Amino acid sequence: MGRVLIIGAGGVGGVVTHKCAQVPGVFSEICLASRSLEKCQRIQQALNRDIQIAKVDADQPSDVVRLIQSFKPQVLINAALPYQDLSIMEACLQTGVHYIDTANYEHPDEAKFSYHWQWAYHDRFKERGIMALLGCGFDPGVTNVFCAWAQKQHFDWIQNIDILDCNAGHHGHAFATNFNPEINIREITQPGRYWEDGRWIETAPLAMQMMHDYPEIGPRASYLLYHEELESLVKNIRGLKRIRFFMTFSESYLMHLRVLQNVGLTRIDPVDFEGQKIVPLKFLKTLLPEPSTLGKHYTGKTNIGCQIEGIKDGQPRSLYIYNVCDHAECYREVGSQAVSYTTGVPAMIGAKLMLTGQWHGAGVFNIEQLDPAPFMHDLNLYGLPWSVKELVPQLVPA
Ligand code: NDP
Repeated sequence: MGRVLIIGAGGVGGVVTHKCAQVPGVFSEICLASRSLEKCQRIQQALNRDIQIAKVDADQPSDVVRLIQSFKPQVLINAALPYQDLSIMEACLQTGVHYIDTANYEHPDEAKFSYHWQWAYHDRFKERGIMALLGCGFDPGVTNVFCAWAQKQHFDWIQNIDILDCNAGHHGHAFATNFNPEINIREITQPGRYWEDGRWIETAPLAMQMMHDYPEIGPRASYLLYHEELESLVKNIRGLKRIRFFMTFSESYLMHLRVLQNVGLTRIDPVDFEGQKIVPLKFLKTLLPEPSTLGKHYTGKTNIGCQIEGIKDGQPRSLYIYNVCDHAECYREVGSQAVSYTTGVPAMIGAKLMLTGQWHGAGVFNIEQLDPAPFMHDLNLYGLPWSVKELVPQLVPA
């Protein structure tokens, strides 16, 4: 039915490629391209279906344009890094190809992600008659769809949302990050931020903590972070009073992070080293295990979901909508750990819905702006089944 070009052959790109290859009725031709061809070859060899591979430098729009012109995809999935979002969007505009990513743009020199650079492309995508779908991973991605679905099906008014991200797995390394180390550490070391009563409230990094009892896992310390879906959900969920994001970290992870910060290894400004300029965080990344290699010995589960409070038919209501994913099962299916898996599956589903025309539109969209129903259906079908738990409402009746 359609041709998909996937850029980025890391942990997430590997899962996206496997999952697209499992749906030949929709993805009739697949091309996987990345900065290093060997990584594409490794993924290609693990598949039981033929795909094309290519080398591309996605920092250069002209390089991406050349690849698009030779492969002729209808949709491009960006599974590279946030730094490449704008150059890949430029290439899609020039060639008239639909665009999907899983992380919003940030500039390499400033650890400050925001959608505003990508939202600025809306009119040009609209004029070109093509669609850009932003943040189609798990969080952002599935969490946004859970909120849109709750708004459509279960609430007249949503008052509070807590997005809760728990990884209770063990990879066997003293310290590793589950997605790109550079992007992960930049995200976690930023100040925390949440939205309440119409304004953003900033906290020191990892300063706000609560215990949360995650189904199938148990109670875990969860830390408030600023996370990208908050920026679009405050615009797209009507009447929202408060939205926060929490992620679990083990004591050992936090201790390693504190040491790395204290010795300056998480800095993103260049420093002189033996006559050369190096960025300490980039150097640290080269020492840490790659996310795509963590799966083999990973055990345990993730639980990511949205705790949503609001009003339905004049009565307070509280729901937890969530998915539980098992690291070892992901490895058996596609050779990856659950964090890459939970990101790659939604990106494939987004591309499928665009190719089949179930999701369509011209311009730049966040995922909660589209009909959540077919996406919720496909999550159950393609490996990320979800559950809904009714909680005791804390709100006072309206
Ligand atoms: P990896 O580091 O494993 O993979 C990134 C891949 O992109 C690598 O293959 C890398 O190539 C390639 N790449 C980097 N720069 C370029 C370039 N200029 N041109 C072409 N290819 C390039 O990261 P992950 O797979 O773990 O993460 C991928 C993305 O997914 C990140 O943006 C991350 O933020 C996002 N993510 C989103 C989540 C969500 O739920 N929404 C959750 C987890 C991740 P090379 O190997 O040569 O460096």
